[in-house]
Amino acid sequence: MNPLAHHARAKVLVVEDEPAIADVVARYLKRAGYETTVAATGQSALRQSEAARPDVVVLDLMLPDLDGLEVMRRMRRDDRRSAIILLTARAEESDRIVGLRLGADDYVVKPFSPAELVARVDAVLRRIDPLPEREAPLRFDRLLIDPAARTAEFDRRLLELTQREFDLLLFLARHPGQVFTRNQLMDHVWRYTFYTDTSTVTVHIRRLRAKLEPDPARPRHVETVWGVGYRFAP
Ligand code: CA
Repeated sequence: MNPLAHHARAKVLVVEDEPAIADVVARYLKRAGYETTVAATGQSALRQSEAARPDVVVLDLMLPDLDGLEVMRRMRRDDRRSAIILLTARAEESDRIVGLRLGADDYVVKPFSPAELVARVDAVLRRIDPLPEREAPLRFDRLLIDPAARTAEFDRRLLELTQREFDLLLFLARHPGQVFTRNQLMDHVWRYTFYTDTSTVTVHIRRLRAKLEPDPARPRHVETVWGVGYRFAP
């Protein structure tokens, strides 16, 4: 089934100050069926994001007014619903890791093919089920996960998880005691195979623990199985 059929009316905000890149990206996204708008500055991106509530934000890191990471920080503070894909000309791992730590869902390094970017947008949207079945909440001691509401609470305190962190927690919690390698988690939680950088999994696990575990250095729920991967301990 073509995933675009489900998401043909999804909204994408492209934040890019170079007109040539913005134009070609917007053209490809529109052709793929996405309602696409473009912002050329960080301030304009924040205004448009608040007004239009895009499903996906494609965000260039180098903008004329605000740093792209600062734009993302503000978007994440105001609304955690939009998925964010970073565009970066800087190939350094540190920028990508900082972006992922701040809650980016994916990144694309310039120069990139517009078709690949559309595939990434498809992939982040594919994770959003338009009609999820009402599934009973999962309860583990002090942890409560509600798949239908997409919320998790620890000691009745709502955890501020990004979509990807929630998906990761839910996937692990649905298979208590089962060990998964980073590659398996990439396949099941990230769901696309051309993404080969499994350090992404490590970063997300670390972020999830920091939010979930009272003592992240000695995790209770998200355990490391040395040399293999991770497992959820109920
Ligand atoms: Ca730029």
